Amino acid sequence: MKTKDFKIENFIRTNVQNMAPYSSARDEFTKVADVYLDANENPFENGINRYPDPYQKLVKERLSEIKNIPTQNMILGNGSDEILDLIFRAFCEPKEDNVICTPPTYGMYKVLAGLNDIELKNSVLTVDFNLNVADILSQIDANTKIIFLCSPNNPTGNIIPENQIEEVLTKSNCLVVIDEAYIDFASSPSWTTKLEQYPNLIVCQTLSKAYGMAGIRLGLCFASTKIVSVLNKIKPPYNVNVLTQRTALEALNDVEGYEGKLELILQERESMRDALSELSFVKKIYPSDANFWLIKVEDANNIYNKLLDLGIVIRNRCNQVLCENTLRITIGTPIENEKLIQALRKL
Ligand SMILES: *Cc1c(COP(=O)(O)O)cnc(C)c1O
Repeated sequence: MKTKDFKIENFIRTNVQNMAPYSSARDEFTKVADVYLDANENPFENGINRYPDPYQKLVKERLSEIKNIPTQNMILGNGSDEILDLIFRAFCEPKEDNVICTPPTYGMYKVLAGLNDIELKNSVLTVDFNLNVADILSQIDANTKIIFLCSPNNPTGNIIPENQIEEVLTKSNCLVVIDEAYIDFASSPSWTTKLEQYPNLIVCQTLSKAYGMAGIRLGLCFASTKIVSVLNKIKPPYNVNVLTQRTALEALNDVEGYEGKLELILQERESMRDALSELSFVKKIYPSDANFWLIKVEDANNIYNKLLDLGIVIRNRCNQVLCENTLRITIGTPIENEKLIQALRKL
């Protein structure tokens, strides 16, 4: 079926379609008043006594400038994890529907499928961590609702080639979620530039990685206005708190601060590759468009444990499919990276 025949109406769960959303005090009155006695808040001003804006207007307007995407095509969540959960809940019927993901990849798709009682089908990546598009398409059945792709992929680090994603978008007739948590570190453009072309496309990003705000939990989602309105209907009314909105807005206005740190991380990524490649036990450094390297080594468990003894923690990815003897190393500050390299040299 062609993308133009895609009808989101056929994907919305019946109960979601039929339900009336919660209407909060701030939904019903959105203008400015002198006296607010509508939400049972404590009236004494302390900076956080009022409920947050349920639709995060100011944050979205700033994101709209940065990302060049209309605010109507955005929904924000308490981390991308909340967004991903909303997507499951909006479009997948428990015990009936299924989704596809492409391991080795981010673990939350599996956790959320389990939580929502949705069957998860795995289409393992090729040995060089590309999509096996024919396999993905062959696993689709009448109950397949969503295909989760992650690009740049975690834990492998690579960007998934455009033509592979395009084929899934055009031939699957499923919702396709592209998780772009690491896109700010990549040299290729975001799929948000193609939203108008693909009504089945959902792009997730986050402030947790390049923007340095993992602690405030702010996930970003970009999709058609129809998809956004379904997700808005089912989200908890005040899902992004006042402190998060305020902090995000301040940080998003500090363009120089953001760009400077991003540049440094990218430089460090390159020096780390050079340093890692000189270690005899490093057998392979996989290509990365993210803020980490996946490396294949001799005896990964041993290296992982020895580093732990030295107070350095990296991620052991040995148990993931195609990732035998691999370690994932996040790019840290120059000093942290130097400590890691010194420790590895002494092993
Ligand atoms: C880190 C990461 C996220 C971020 O999730 P948040 O809930 O926004 O912190 C999302 N997807 C992938 C693949 C990640 O690695």
